[in-house]
Amino acid sequence: MKQCVGCGKPVTAADWRCEACGYAPRMVNGWPSFVAGEVAGPKEFNRGVYTRMVACEEQSFYHRTRRRLILWALASLFPAARRLYDLGVGTGYVLDGIRSANPELELYGSDLALDSLAVTTERIGDAATLFHTEASRIPFAEHFDVVGAFDVVEHIEDDVGALRAIHRAIRPGGGVLLTVPQHMAFWSRLDAETGHVRRYQGHELADKAREAGFEVLLDTSFMASLFVPQYLSRRLLAKKSTRAFEAEHLLPAPLNRTLEAVLSAEIALIRAGVRFPFGGLRIVAGRKPAA
Ligand SMILES: [Zn+2]
Repeated sequence: MKQCVGCGKPVTAADWRCEACGYAPRMVNGWPSFVAGEVAGPKEFNRGVYTRMVACEEQSFYHRTRRRLILWALASLFPAARRLYDLGVGTGYVLDGIRSANPELELYGSDLALDSLAVTTERIGDAATLFHTEASRIPFAEHFDVVGAFDVVEHIEDDVGALRAIHRAIRPGGGVLLTVPQHMAFWSRLDAETGHVRRYQGHELADKAREAGFEVLLDTSFMASLFVPQYLSRRLLAKKSTRAFEAEHLLPAPLNRTLEAVLSAEIALIRAGVRFPFGGLRIVAGRKPAA
């Protein structure tokens, strides 16, 4: 059900106006905005950054394999899902993949950056109900079969609080799917430039998901095979000043193909039950216990 972010009471009105307290979201650029303060959003993400990301993610070994890993986890852990919310849609690349693979899903998405909603709409049209909000102000309670937050909680100071808010938005028996960057040893300018508060370490994210009330179904690193080259590249990037994003994600085609093949093999191993203790990305899935 819809829930008032002002008072927490159920909301039925199409325009989200709360009969109990009178709260109604502002309409900003055509989207309902549930953000409490300024609507400007994070300074790290604007149209220019998204344009650069869109230009490379369809080819990038990293974005392609990360999305395939997410789609596998969704299909294998939550095959009965009917309603999914992507919290932090970014460019809409993952949500677009979810839509293509699961045309029957009812889709919702939000972001704190308004330009994200515009870029996502260009990509998927009205295939998802989009709104503007932050993780602490999700205007739904016990509504979703699955909430995905793909490379989102590393941007949030109170990540456990965000996971608790996600937990409230999921129906009992539903699930959460999370990805985060891993290893503080990989910390570089790129992390700072994209507004990361931290990179995760070991079972940290799974432990925090448990703390928020989830039963952990999947907890593995990804990109273990690229640990050494990624470490070296990150040490170089730590010093280099510009275009870090392209340096990491837009590689010469033969190298890009090789890395995609390497990571595809890693996905096959994860599907077969292998769990990697290290790698640049962590994926965690959890279930909200049925009431
Ligand atoms: Zn209210």
